[in-house]
Formats: sequence, structure tokens, C-alpha cells
Amino acid sequence: MSGLAQRVREFAARAADSIEAEADLNLAARRALALLGEEGLLELTVPGEGGGGKGVSVRHLCVVREGLAYQSGLLDVMFVMQGLGSFPMTLAEDPSLGEELAAIGAGKLIAAFALTEPEAGSDLSAIATRARQVDGGWRLDGHKTFISNAPLCDRITVLARTSGESGDEQGLSMFLVQGDAPGLRRESFDVMAPHPIGDLYFEETPARLLGERGAGLEMALGTLSRFRTSVAAAACGFAARALDESLRHLQRRKQFGRPLATFQGLRFDLAEMDTRLAAARLLVSEAAQRVDDGADARCEVARAKLFATESASWICDRAVQHLGGRGVRQGEVVERLYREVRALRIYEGTSEVQKLILARELLKRSSEA
Ligand SMILES: Cc1cc2nc3c(=O)[nH]c(=O)nc-3n(C[C@H](O)[C@H](O)[C@H](O)COP(=O)(O)OP(=O)(O)OC[C@H]3O[C@@H](n4cnc5c(N)ncnc54)[C@H](O)[C@@H]3O)c2cc1C
Repeated sequence: MSGLAQRVREFAARAADSIEAEADLNLAARRALALLGEEGLLELTVPGEGGGGKGVSVRHLCVVREGLAYQSGLLDVMFVMQGLGSFPMTLAEDPSLGEELAAIGAGKLIAAFALTEPEAGSDLSAIATRARQVDGGWRLDGHKTFISNAPLCDRITVLARTSGESGDEQGLSMFLVQGDAPGLRRESFDVMAPHPIGDLYFEETPARLLGERGAGLEMALGTLSRFRTSVAAAACGFAARALDESLRHLQRRKQFGRPLATFQGLRFDLAEMDTRLAAARLLVSEAAQRVDDGADARCEVARAKLFATESASWICDRAVQHLGGRGVRQGEVVERLYREVRALRIYEGTSEVQKLILARELLKRSSEA
């Protein structure tokens, strides 16, 4: 295990206990962020020394996310959202944003990334949030939903329409909104695992244009392509924990006069869980390397996210089955993993969207050959 992986494992085990002791989700999320900041891990989510490519090493993100997810989905989310939420600021290459990026990298400001709308999920070209130019700046009007950190965020990168109608991808631009901006309203809701999330409503909300007008979709996709591989790595963290829980339980629990681990059917399960996890890790490693090298990684990233998240869901499901009734009891680790891993097949591009990306690239290459 690398030095970073070891450090993250030890940190996450300590931090998870402290976070679990906090009953209120938003307070638990803030504590997670403070601990991640004190440990110096958040610096890996924004440009700085030691990063690759645009200053954020995907290999480092992956190592950290696997280690955090092994212990706590909330730690994992609070870690990655600082990077995902602020990466459009990095892409804008505007030195005047340096201080804010540093504050995000220290956990002093909380970031969010707002693409999804009630009528625009997988199809971002349908975004309807409008940006209007006024004297000295821009104003936003619209509604974003399913936004991680919506209840907490101090800085929001927002994809909004500066021209055209639904379907016009060139009419989208990226904006930065302050958490205390007038006309910004938040509503939170719960999903099946601990995750600060909700809706954001903009009404004449002041915003700052990031990068070029019309480059918004490119910046959004650039951000997703940088961070998507790390979703696959987090999936490996949940799966690794599920496999460990299964291994422990099957050796301890006796039925029919012998440990469950002696039954061949369950041994076959363990072998398959391990093989899928190992294959997922190899795909993650290949994708992360290519993204960090600046190579075309569309196929590798889509493959890694698709396979790792689907496999991890299956592995967590098997672990629940291995624990029998205990597997679905609230408070059991595998019950939590089963809920925590599920959203990874949906956010940052669903499994179906990954298949579409992969198939499109394969067909393109085949027709060019
Ligand atoms: C926990 C969580 C956190 C999230 N955090 C954020 C965030 O921070 N910021 C943000 O902007 N968004 C966030 N999202 C939203 C997420 O990105 C969207 O849910 C996702 O992109 C899917 O969009 P949708 O929910 O509108 O589903 P839809 O796009 O309506 O899709 C519904 C189903 O149809 C399938 N489908 C859609 N189009 C096709 C097609 N062409 N072919 C085949 N199948 C298709 C999808 O794969 C899916 O199974 C989050 C979601 C969750 C669950």
C-alpha cells in the first residue's frame, strides 16, 4: 500500500468515529470537512504543488477516495465536492480566483457544482437556467436540483444559458455564485445515504462569468472527465469494505454445524467478489493514468466508472446476503454500504450514459479505421 493510501486509511478510521457521533447531517458534514482540512487532504482537490495535468492528480484523488469510502461515504463526498465544485474555477485560469481556490483547498469555503435541473439531467443541453448581462456583471434566474452541498455551500459553479434555447450547447456558460448572494434560496432533502443535497433557486442572483462565454458545456464536461474516474475509485472503497465484512462474517458464523466459509457456494461468491474488485481497480488505475497524462481517456474513464460502480453495487449486495438477516439491519456496516454505493451508478453520468459514451467512441474509431 502506498504511503498516501496508508495515511488515508488511518485518518479515515479515526475521522469516521468522530463523524458518526454527530446526529445532525449538516454538522457531521462540516466536521468531516474540518477533519479533512486539518489532515491536509483537501489540498489534493485543488491545484497546487504535486498535482498532475491542470494541477489535480487523478491518481491521488483515486487513492484518497478509495480509502475514505472504505470507512465513510460522507467523508468521501465532502472530500471530492471541494474539487468538483471548484474545478471550473481552475479551468477559468483566472489568477484573481487564487485566494478563493486556496480557501476551498483548506476547507474554509465549501464548494458545489450545479448542473442538474428538473428538466435537464443526462441531457445537459436542455438547461434552462438563464444568465442575463447587466451593468458590471450577470444575473441568474433558474432552478438547480440534486446539488451536493446545496445546504452548506459558500461558492457554487453554475452552468447557465447565455443564449439560444433547449438543445443549443453553444449557448451555455459557466458562472460562479457566492453562497450569500441575494436571490439565492436553498431547500434540502434526504437521499438514501448521508449526503448533504438539495435544490438551489436563483432569482436575479448576481454571478460572475467563468472563462469564455459559450464555453460552459466544455468546462462542465472537462470537470466531469477529470473527476469521474474517482467515482469508480470510491466504488472500489465501498466494495473492498463489503468484501472484508463478508470474509469476517463467513468465517465466524456457523450453520449446519460448520462455518459458512466452508460452503463452496459462498466461496465461489468470495472469489467472484475479489475478481470483480481487482478488475475494477485495474480499470481505475488505467483511466487515472491516462487522464493525468493528458491522453484521450474517454473510453477508459467510461469503462472504469461503468464497471466499478456496477460491480461494487453487486459486491455490496452479496455482502448483505452473506450476513443474512443482520445484513439488512440498520447500523450494520453492510447495510450502510448497500445504501451508500447506490448513487454512484447515477451521479456524474449514469451507467447508461457511460455505455453511450463508450459505444460512440468505439463506433467512431471503427469507422475511421
Ligand atoms: C446523490 C446524488 C448527488 C448528486 N450531485 C449532483 C451535483 O452535485 N451536481 C449536479 O449537477 N447534479 C448532481 N446529481 C444529479 C445527477 O448528476 C443526475 O441525477 C444524473 O445526471 C441523472 O440525471 P436524472 O436524475 O435527471 O436522470 P435522467 O437523465 O432523467 O435519466 C433517468 C434514467 O434514464 C436513463 N437515460 C437517460 N437518457 C438515456 C439515453 N439516451 N439512453 C439510455 N438511457 C438513458 C438514465 O441512465 C437513467 O437511468 C446528483 C445525483 C445524486 C443521486
